[in-house]
Amino acid sequence: MTLTNRELTRYDRQIRMQEFGKKGQENLKKAHVVVAGAGGLGSSAGIYLATSGIGHISIIDHEAVELSNLNRQILHWERDIGKSKVESAVEKLRQINSDIEVTDIEKEIKEENVLELLKGADAIVDCMDNFHTRFILNDAALKLNIPFFHGACYGFEGRATTIIPKKTPCLRCIIPKSPPEKKVPIMSTTPGTIGTIQATEVIKFFAGIKPLLTSKLLIYDSWYLTYDLIKIERNRKCPSCGG
Ligand SMILES: [Zn+2]
Repeated sequence: MTLTNRELTRYDRQIRMQEFGKKGQENLKKAHVVVAGAGGLGSSAGIYLATSGIGHISIIDHEAVELSNLNRQILHWERDIGKSKVESAVEKLRQINSDIEVTDIEKEIKEENVLELLKGADAIVDCMDNFHTRFILNDAALKLNIPFFHGACYGFEGRATTIIPKKTPCLRCIIPKSPPEKKVPIMSTTPGTIGTIQATEVIKFFAGIKPLLTSKLLIYDSWYLTYDLIKIERNRKCPSCGG
């Protein structure tokens, strides 16, 4: 997939990185990335995937924008309150980059429809706010054999890991059971940082740049401003990827 003159200019600064180059940019252009969740993580991940030139981004969400979302969900503005999140997100991403394709999928992710929703995807970015849906996506990524970029936030803390099916631990290897579902406290900027890290991983993956956050869990603490990398291993008895 060759790059147009406009694209060569648009992405000039990243193409200038030797490890990235035109080849890396072409690979980004070919990629179809599904962003699952148009909240705090989906906002920052979505913006950087769009500005970086991922050729096709699909956004899945089924909720509407609320006033209490606006402290962290930067794709949604005051004028969007009451509008569907995918509609609001897709409108902004198309304005950010009209050279890429952006698809809106206004659906709730369930076990019954997940494979249909992910049709044609080359990667999934986990921007969900609950582990029930994260596990559905984790299992779908394993089935489809596509990478799964996990991110999660709680208060001042954020976590991220990159899951390559059958090669690295999956989400269920490291978190066997769903934590209780409730509205968690979130510092406004934490999903901004973690979503940006997820987008970085996606871009590096398609550009073929290593190392990635594979078999490693990144723990970011915005209170003490620390980033810790913890080595994680596959669980042979994992109900999702073991055996
Ligand atoms: Zn597993």
